[in-house]
Amino acid sequence: MSNMNRVRLPEDLLLSVRKPARYIGCEANSITKDWDKVRVRFCLCFPDLYEIGMSNLGIKILYHILNRQEWILCERSFTPWIDMEKAIRDNNIPLFSLENKMPLRCFDILGFSFSYELSYTNMLTMLDLSGIPFLSAQRDEGGYPLIIAGGSCVVNPEPLSDLVDIFVIGDGEEPVVEISRIYDEYRSDRALMMREISRIEGVYIPALHVRGSKVVKRVTRELKESDFPTKPITPYIEPVHNRITVEIMRGCPNNCYFCQARSVYGPVRLRDRAQVAALVRESYRNTGLDEVSLLSLSSASYPGIEKLISELTGLFLPLGVGISLPSLRIEESTLGIPSLVSAIKKSGLTFAPEAGTDRMLKKINKNIEKEKLFAVLRQAFSKGWRRVKLYFMIGLPGETDEDVEGIIDFAGSIDSVRREISRRPVDIVASISSFIPKPHTFFERQAMAGSFELSRKQAMLLAASKKIKHLKLKFSDVNTSVLEAVFSRGDKDLGRLIVSAWQKGARFDAWSETFNPDIWDKAFEECGIDKGRYLSEKGDGEVLPWSHVIVNC
Ligand code: SF4
Repeated sequence: MSNMNRVRLPEDLLLSVRKPARYIGCEANSITKDWDKVRVRFCLCFPDLYEIGMSNLGIKILYHILNRQEWILCERSFTPWIDMEKAIRDNNIPLFSLENKMPLRCFDILGFSFSYELSYTNMLTMLDLSGIPFLSAQRDEGGYPLIIAGGSCVVNPEPLSDLVDIFVIGDGEEPVVEISRIYDEYRSDRALMMREISRIEGVYIPALHVRGSKVVKRVTRELKESDFPTKPITPYIEPVHNRITVEIMRGCPNNCYFCQARSVYGPVRLRDRAQVAALVRESYRNTGLDEVSLLSLSSASYPGIEKLISELTGLFLPLGVGISLPSLRIEESTLGIPSLVSAIKKSGLTFAPEAGTDRMLKKINKNIEKEKLFAVLRQAFSKGWRRVKLYFMIGLPGETDEDVEGIIDFAGSIDSVRREISRRPVDIVASISSFIPKPHTFFERQAMAGSFELSRKQAMLLAASKKIKHLKLKFSDVNTSVLEAVFSRGDKDLGRLIVSAWQKGARFDAWSETFNPDIWDKAFEECGIDKGRYLSEKGDGEVLPWSHVIVNC
C-alpha cells in the first residue's frame, strides 16, 4: 500500500522552487516509521511555512507524544509556499507528508494547529491539494481523514465549525492519543466513532453539539518530564527560532484585562528547576544547539527565576550554551545578577507597557511601576545597553487622544533617563499594535476601533514621534488587525467567507507580501457579510459565538 501511493517528485521540481529543504524531510531526529506496521496514521498539518511550524513548541510536543505510541505513526506537513503550490498543481502531485512522503489523503487523521486566525485559508490550500472536500458534511462518506483543529485560535471555534470535524479546546497532549485510540477501535463505524470522541473532555464536535451545552477546556494537570520533546527535529534550513526551547511555566498569574493568552494557557503550572536543567541538558545532547530559550508567558512571574538562570548559566555557560529569556519583565534586582546580564542582553531590553498613561495602565490592569522601570533602565544604560524595545496598543477601551500621545511621552521619558546617564544615543523601537477585544477576556464585549480611527491614531503618533530623535515606530497593518478581529470574534457564517476568499486567491494572509485586502473585501461583499457586526460592542444579554466554550478554570 505505502509504496504504491508514495509521492515521487520529478527531479527538477525542487530546484524550481524557493528553499527546497522545506519539502524534503529526512532531518536529524525526525521519525519515519513503517507505514504498514502501525494502526493509526496521524499527520500534523501546520497551516504556514515550514520555518514557522518548526519553531512551534506545540508541534514538537505532539510529534513526540504521538510517535511515542508504537501503534501510531505521526508525520508532518506544512503549507507549501506559492511557488511550490503551483509546481505540485502543475504536475498533478498531491500534498504529501515529509516523512513517508505519503499523500495527506492516505492518513487517518489530519491535525491542524492554529495560533493565528490569518492562517485559516492555508488549511484550505492543504485540503485542496489533497483532494479533500472543504466542508465537514461532505466528508461523512468517502473514507476521508478526520480533520481535527487545536491551538489558541480555537477557543472560538465557530468560524471553522463547518470546515473542521473535531476541535480540541485547550491542552492537546492527552486528547490526541485518546482520539487516536477511539479511531482505532471504531474505524468501521464513523458515526459511532464520532459519538465516542465527543465524550472526550475538551473535545467539541459541531455536528453533534447540543444547543445550550458547554465545552470545557482540557487542562493537562502537570507538565510531565516524559512529555517533553528532548530530541526535537533539527531542520536543514534556519527556522525562525533556531534554539532549544524549554517551557518553564504554562499559564500566567497576572490578569491584564486585554490578554487572551492567560485564559487559553491557564491555569498556572510550573516545571521545577531540577527538571528544567535536566531537559536542557538532554536537549543539548540530542541537538548540539547552543542557545536555550526559557519559554513562558511571563518569566518574571516564575518563582525563583533569578535562581533558575544562575543555575543554568553556571551549568551551561562553560559549554558555550547561552540562555535567553524572551519574555522577562526586568526588575532592578535581576540586573544585579551578573549571569542574568548576558541572558537578558541576548534577548535585548524589552518592555510591554501596552499603554502610555497611568490612567490607561490602570484601566487595562497592567501593573507597571514606571519609577521601577526607569531605575532598571538607568542601570542598563550605565552597563552599555543601547537598544530598547517597547510594545504598545492603540484603540483600547475608553482611550483618549491624550492617552495615545502618552505613548510618545513614555518613550520620551526613556530617552530622558538615557540623557541622565550618557550622551550616547539609544535606539528606542516602539511596536504599536491595534487592540482587539478578544474572546474570553475582560474586554470581550467591547467594540473594536474602526480602521479610520486606528489610522488616525497611527498618523498622530507618527507626527508626535518626530520630537524624539532616536525613536522608531513600527505599526501593525490596520486591515490585517481588522480581519484578525473578525475571525477571532466570528461565528459560523465565516466558514463560507473563508472559502470564498480562498477561491479568489487568498493565500498566506499573515504575510504582508501575499495579503490582499481587496480579495477579502470582495469576499465579504459576495457573501453578504457585514464585518462591522463582528467589530461592534456586544450587549450584556447577547449570546456570544464562543459562549459555549468555557476556558477559565
Ligand atoms: S499580558 Fe502577559 S503578564 Fe499580562 S496576563 Fe497576559 S501573559 Fe500575563
